[in-house]
Parts: sequence; structure tokens; C-alpha cells
Amino acid sequence: MATNWHRRDVMTMAGAAALVGIDGHALAATPPDLVIKGGRVIDPSRKIDATLDIAVSRGRIIALRPSIAPGKAKTLDTTGKIVVPGLIDIHTHATVDPTSSALMLADGVTGWIETGWQGAETVESGVAAVKASPQKAALLLNIGRKGVMIGTGETMDLSLADVPAARAAIAAHRDVVVGVKARLSRNITGDHDLEVLRRAQEATRPFGIPLMIHIGQTYTPAGKLFELLKPGDIVTHMFAPPPNAIIDADGKLIPEALSARQRGILFDWGHGTRGHITWDVVDRCVQQGFLPDTLSTDWTLGGAKLDINMPTIMSDMLSFGVPLDQVVAMATINAARAFPLFKGRGTLAPGAVADIAVLELRDGIFDLIDNANGKRPATQKLFATATVLGGKLASPV
Ligand SMILES: [Zn+2]
Repeated sequence: MATNWHRRDVMTMAGAAALVGIDGHALAATPPDLVIKGGRVIDPSRKIDATLDIAVSRGRIIALRPSIAPGKAKTLDTTGKIVVPGLIDIHTHATVDPTSSALMLADGVTGWIETGWQGAETVESGVAAVKASPQKAALLLNIGRKGVMIGTGETMDLSLADVPAARAAIAAHRDVVVGVKARLSRNITGDHDLEVLRRAQEATRPFGIPLMIHIGQTYTPAGKLFELLKPGDIVTHMFAPPPNAIIDADGKLIPEALSARQRGILFDWGHGTRGHITWDVVDRCVQQGFLPDTLSTDWTLGGAKLDINMPTIMSDMLSFGVPLDQVVAMATINAARAFPLFKGRGTLAPGAVADIAVLELRDGIFDLIDNANGKRPATQKLFATATVLGGKLASPV
């Protein structure tokens, strides 16, 4: 379906120009060091969709206007491109391989969360990778003490879901650990997913931080799991296929998903490569108006080779007829609001850190892939063409 460019709640260019400029005097007093020129600027945090120039100085956005003279500033020509806040990917495993953050930066990603590769015993390696990242980053601690255990399942042995160990690791790394992760599929937790979830929630309690649960092929129905979540918690792999999905055997959205959303629980895409998403589940949820709050890749190097990256996930969502500004919101401001770490990010407001992604919406014939060899033909796809991180052109370099 074609995207509707002309939604009524999106500002016209004239309206945007009136509201987003700072006064000429201030712009003259603070000469920009970078001017991003001629792009279609979409910033859902302020309902802007207009052709504007963006002035950047000393790492911050200072003005958005229909035309800004660059003077001595460097310019980035974005004519024909889409300029959005830097993308924020809240479900990644970017700490596993040191090349990840640079690859993600080339995809327009200026902020990311490692979601649970490490547990209390292995947290140091994740902390080091987060601290080495050029982007704003943080991690969620796996409730399984040893972190992800491929093949075995990190909480199959319930004693590994260790609340005191998790709390100690969080307390030791409050600057980097911003939440807890519990992977609840049956091949990871066996039949004790509810107890693992209870313990993960226990671990968050002294710190008031969110819990992210991974659903899909759980022992317990998803609706029962949701009852143990608090506002601000996140359900990832929201489009995982049955059994125990957010749709029932007839394809109907379970009422517990709606009531969880009403209580302030967030629903995240979490693409991944195996068992986490099928186009049929997405289609049924979209038809029933149940869209993601956030888009995420579940980034791995293997996934990246299969074209699992943020612009592709955004293209997936577009292919279901969701308007572009709404898709951009899911990858920027909504993600920023999920974690206090990203306060002031996900926006192009003057004064904000200049994290900016330049995307190109190309026409063509593209196959979008789910996790079950499902191919979804699309006529448009987004590609990242440039990334500005903290006011500096970080990609292409
Ligand atoms: Zn994951």
C-alpha cells in the first residue's frame, strides 16, 4: 500500500518554518559547523514533515529552517532524501561482536540496547563493549546468571535465575545496566517460565528499572505472562507465531495484549532470525489495529547478513500500510521514551544532541523476509545513506 504523505496532523512547511527556527540573531551569533540541506525532515516528536535545512553547532542542533546559509560550515546535501532523528534500536546483541556498532552506525543507528546476552557472571564483557561503543548504548542483564546459553537454555536449570546475583551485578554497573531481560520460550525455561519471570521482576524492583520479556513458544499463555508485568516493561518478539502468541488460534488478538498496553506495557518488534516473527501474525495484528510501540532488529552479525537492520524493519512496517511518520516514530521518539538513558534523543528539536539519520526511500521490487522463509513483496524500501552522530558525520566516513 502506498504511504500517505499528506496526513492532516503533519505540519505544512510554512507552519513548521514558523515554529522551528530560532531567531536570526541567535543563528548569527552561533555559526553552524554543519548544515544539512534540502532534505524532507520528518520528526514525529514535534509532528514535523517538511523540506528544511538543519544547522548543527558543537554537537547540537541549533535551527531548522526552509533555508540556512552554510557560510563556512560543512554541508551535507540531502536533496531527495529523508532526514530523521538518529534511529534507536532497543533490542540488539551488539556487544557480541566488536564490529557491530560500526555496522549499525552505517544503518543510521545512533543508540542501542544490548538485551540480555550477558548475565551476572558475564556482565563485564557487555559493560566493556557498551563503553567502547561510539553510540549512546546500555544493556539489559539476563536473569540467567551465565547469560544466553544456546542449546541448553539459560534458565532451564531454575537455580541459574539468581535474583541476588542479578541485583549485585546491576548495583555494580548502574551506569550501563538499565533493565533486566528474561527469555521465556519453552526451550529456554522449560515449564517454569512464570517463576523465571517472577524472579526477573524481583531483580528489577530495588532499582525501578524495566523488564523486557521475550515471548513466543512459551509454556504459559502470553496473557498470563503479561499479568506479571509493570508499566514501562517491554514485550519483545511481539509477532512471534503460536503457540501462546498475542493472537489466538482463530487469529484474534488476545484481550490481555490490549489491557497490558492500557497499563503502559510496551510492545516491541524484535525481528531476529528464528521463530520470532511471521508475516501472518503481523498482518492479523495490524488488521486489528495492534501496532508496535517500537521497532527493533534483535541484531546479530548473522542477522545483518540476512539484511536484518533498522531501515529494513522500518520498510517491513511501511509495507503493511503504516504511514511513514508513524514508522519513524517507532524507530526514534518511542524508542527514546522507553529508557531514561535516551532522554533528549529521538528528536530534532533545537538544543538536542545532533544524532541524525539520512534515509532514502527507493522504488523497486523488494522481498521482505520474516523468520519462516516468508517473502513479502514490497515496492518501496528504506536505505540509510548517511549518519550524523553527536554533530559529526559518522557515516559514510
Ligand atoms: Zn534477542
